[in-house]
Amino acid sequence: MPEAGSVTRLLPLLTDSNRHFWEGGGENKLNFLHCAACSHYVHPPLPNCPQCMQRDLEVRAVSGQASLLSWTVNHQPWIPGFDPPYVIALVAIKEQPTLRLMTNIVDCKIEKLVDGLQLEVVFENAGEGVFLPLFKPVDGPA
Ligand SMILES: [Zn+2]
Repeated sequence: MPEAGSVTRLLPLLTDSNRHFWEGGGENKLNFLHCAACSHYVHPPLPNCPQCMQRDLEVRAVSGQASLLSWTVNHQPWIPGFDPPYVIALVAIKEQPTLRLMTNIVDCKIEKLVDGLQLEVVFENAGEGVFLPLFKPVDGPA
């Protein structure tokens, strides 16, 4: 795992509507907006719940558990200091399978990746207050 600031990723612009998501890792929390009316998690952040259109959204942390939906292995050295190969993945958050994140899988051999692999979040301190939610296998390094 690279040290904070050692990799030049393009970091998100923090706003009042997304700060809970990007800064949550500083408290080891994977935060999403949650609709108080219908219990739907909303991501990316929106002013209304897309399920029921209510505006009563609150920040709520999920367990950090997810399953692997799809992935690809990048072999191209796009970013200096971020050496390939690395895994770009789509994961489904346990609390709501339609709640999905594009992320990286870490601490896992590429040949161990399978559909439905059980994952848990780990946070990479990317600097500037941003903590990137990455995922690793629940059962430890595979
Ligand atoms: Zn709702």
